[in-house]
Amino acid sequence: MQKTDFLVIGTGIAGLTYALKVAQRFPEKKVLVMTKAAADETNTKYAQGGVAVVNDLEKDSFEKHIEDTLIAGDGLCNEEVVEIVVKEGPDRVRELIEWGARFDKEKDGDYKLGKEGGHSEFRIIHHKDITGWEMERALLEAVSRQTNIEIIKHCFVVDIITQHHLGYLVTKSAPDIECYGVYVLNLQTNRIEKIITKFTLLATGGNGQVYRTTTNPSIATGDGVAMVYRAKGRIENMEFIQFHPTALYEPGLRGQAFLITEAVRGDGGILRNKDGEAFMERYDERKDLAPRDIVARAIDSEMKRTGTEHVWLDCRHFSKEKFTEHFPNIYQKCLSIGIDITQHMIPVAPAAHYSCGGIKTDEWGKTSIKNLYVCGECSSTGLHGANRLASNSLLEAMVFAHRCYLDVIDRTPESSKISPPAGGGDLSAGLSEEGAGAVPDWNATGTSEPKEMILITQSLKELQQVMSDYVGIVRNDIRLRRAMRRLDLLWEETEKLYESSSLSPQLLELRNLITVGYLIVKGASFRKESRGLHFNTDYPNKSELVQNIVL
Ligand SMILES: Cc1cc2nc3c(=O)[nH]c(=O)nc-3n(C[C@H](O)[C@H](O)[C@H](O)COP(=O)(O)OP(=O)(O)OC[C@H]3O[C@@H](n4cnc5c(N)ncnc54)[C@H](O)[C@@H]3O)c2cc1C
Repeated sequence: MQKTDFLVIGTGIAGLTYALKVAQRFPEKKVLVMTKAAADETNTKYAQGGVAVVNDLEKDSFEKHIEDTLIAGDGLCNEEVVEIVVKEGPDRVRELIEWGARFDKEKDGDYKLGKEGGHSEFRIIHHKDITGWEMERALLEAVSRQTNIEIIKHCFVVDIITQHHLGYLVTKSAPDIECYGVYVLNLQTNRIEKIITKFTLLATGGNGQVYRTTTNPSIATGDGVAMVYRAKGRIENMEFIQFHPTALYEPGLRGQAFLITEAVRGDGGILRNKDGEAFMERYDERKDLAPRDIVARAIDSEMKRTGTEHVWLDCRHFSKEKFTEHFPNIYQKCLSIGIDITQHMIPVAPAAHYSCGGIKTDEWGKTSIKNLYVCGECSSTGLHGANRLASNSLLEAMVFAHRCYLDVIDRTPESSKISPPAGGGDLSAGLSEEGAGAVPDWNATGTSEPKEMILITQSLKELQQVMSDYVGIVRNDIRLRRAMRRLDLLWEETEKLYESSSLSPQLLELRNLITVGYLIVKGASFRKESRGLHFNTDYPNKSELVQNIVL
């Protein structure tokens, strides 16, 4: 058993920002950061477009950014949270710059500002087309200078520890569920260890891997959401999955697809169908810069109408210099598969990109489980509502990492130990030293190595196929019911495997992804309307009833 003052799960922008702040505030205390992969293997690293933030109060305003966010969110944003994120954003970006992140500048020293779908002004700061890579680099370097932060790589967090593990009956309606730490599979030793702490922050990122193609890397398996759901915490609005309209289409590809950022369309890229028609003008007066859900649905409809697996993004009219200056990474990637963007159009298709829902939080990142905080993509703070405005997520992660930090320091007296002493019987009182000792070791009795990994890999493929075919950009009730029946079967088979097998990341991720798939289908089935990213042809209109679906 290990004990730590502060535990952070995830090394993306959300986890690292929080870890740095807590560690700087309490230099005498230890901050333990865990990740199941290499430290920089995160959604954060792959962010291209940038961070939406109001820079220039003469040309832009907080009110305009707030309004753009609310319009995208289609009636479901929490207005208070939107205001918080937009107004606190500039301070958080300044901190990141102080930690060493570099953003592109004009010759006069002002930041270069990009524009993406749904934004009324140029306000996206970026580092070429590898903004996330630069932010992750700066954060990891700042962390390496902070001696009281330890990053433990290749440790897979399996479950959060609550009263359930002490033998109490914990139900969804229990008012005082409390997190005492986590069980973690150490991938070096293959053993399951306990980590006990007062404050746990989950920053486990997105869940794009539940679909066949996604812009997300392989780590994006919704582990945090699944863990909190198992622990009887509240999950919200999972049906709102954002499909990025323009992932690079490569025949036969499964898993992570290369993203062609919306900023390419912001700079003048034009979508064309198989006949060369610039079709977006038939769908929306904002044409190629309409919000992502509209563009993704338009592409989906064109692909279905013309029987093709992709449409084209035409950049042939760009000067090579202009394109390579802003998008060097995209230029090189296309070239590597034989596409010279000055001569050829780029084949693109929508891919799962961002989860707007997640673990429900209040405006301080607190969840329904005591001492468990969340921020970043695994959270549902109320910022995005039914649809995320482009480039708002990195900003949200930074703002909420800061808010979690503020709440935690408020509850941490300078001299406090990791947990206050408390009697074992009181469900809400925290863990005493004896209480920590009472958390049982992981029980692996009766389990053995799975005989055939194909049982896991094939189930994953089936899950991704079902989710892509039935719960994608356009849904209907029959498809949702079919999806649920298929998921039930996969769930039953996987639970049997889980009970009898020694744990592996593949099995844990499959189990988590099935839970996430279930939550998406459940949310989609409850929502009897079309709103934002959720489009159901059986209910094509928006309902008058404005509601978040909490599971
Ligand atoms: C291709 C792409 C482009 C994007 N472009 C933009 C953009 O331009 N602007 C913008 O605002 N947003 C963008 N986004 C979204 C944005 O990058 C993410 O929402 C954000 O980076 C999420 O950060 P995070 O810290 O919440 O999670 P992540 O950065 O994904 O980090 C998650 C961490 O949790 C760890 N983890 C997960 N499960 C476990 C477990 N069980 N045990 C241990 N560790 C675990 C992972 O290993 C990882 O370290 C983009 C996303 C993608 C994929």
